[in-house]
Amino acid sequence: MVEFFITENNEIEIASYDAGTTLADLTAELEAFRKTAPELKTGKCKGCGECCSDNIPVLGLDLALLGIDAAALASDPAALEPGSASAGSDLSKPVSYSGHDAVDFLVLPDKPDMAFRRKAIKEMCGWTSISELEATLLFEYNNAEPLILSRQASGECCFLKDGLCSRYGRRPYSCGLYLCNMGKRLAYIQEMIVRQGTWHAYCKLGWISKADIPHNPFLKADSYDKLLVSDFEYDLRNASEQLFFYF
Ligand code: SF4
Ligand code: SF4
Repeated sequence: MVEFFITENNEIEIASYDAGTTLADLTAELEAFRKTAPELKTGKCKGCGECCSDNIPVLGLDLALLGIDAAALASDPAALEPGSASAGSDLSKPVSYSGHDAVDFLVLPDKPDMAFRRKAIKEMCGWTSISELEATLLFEYNNAEPLILSRQASGECCFLKDGLCSRYGRRPYSCGLYLCNMGKRLAYIQEMIVRQGTWHAYCKLGWISKADIPHNPFLKADSYDKLLVSDFEYDLRNASEQLFFYF
């Protein structure tokens, strides 16, 4: 059970949720709540599709949902080298990946620089009294270039047809957890899910190992209805404040 409310700025905000609330519950209940507020733009999303021109993150668990065999790709790293265009350079052109049509609709970021990551986390811990986990989560929050869906020449998502999603039942998780009027707390939870899901995607693609991200909640389960929202709402205020004052 999730409780939402509408703020004085007409944002949809999360008030509380039960301990057992899963990521699947969160999107389902958000979808139900937005329809109870027809006075807001999000009361009727159908046919709007404006947010379908944004960069749409594809999380690790979305790969299977989109029909992509991540394990097969991970065992064939050459398949993830773009055939012609460079990954992430021109979002209006789907990038062609050698021999794998299934990933034609994905645009990949650069692989994470793990040496830079280790150095940055070590320095954050050395400069402040924050824990290694806090430093890691802050690093991952600020350094998570997502895999995204490619776009049509119009700039719209490759799956948007006549203003409607042609993959609605199998769209990436973040499509269901996004509203253009989210409150601060809801947006933070959404961002954390996307960041952790992005690092999980790097793992699925074989770019990093599970041992690099032992804290990542996505390692605990293989579907959105088994993962708890509470595992993603980290309290990083103390860590952020310490780093803010340091710099
Ligand atoms: S969430 Fe997206 S589809 Fe819904 S009203 Fe906002 S921009 Fe339009
Ligand atoms: S997958 Fe569907 S809902 Fe998501 S951005 Fe593309 S068209 Fe929109």
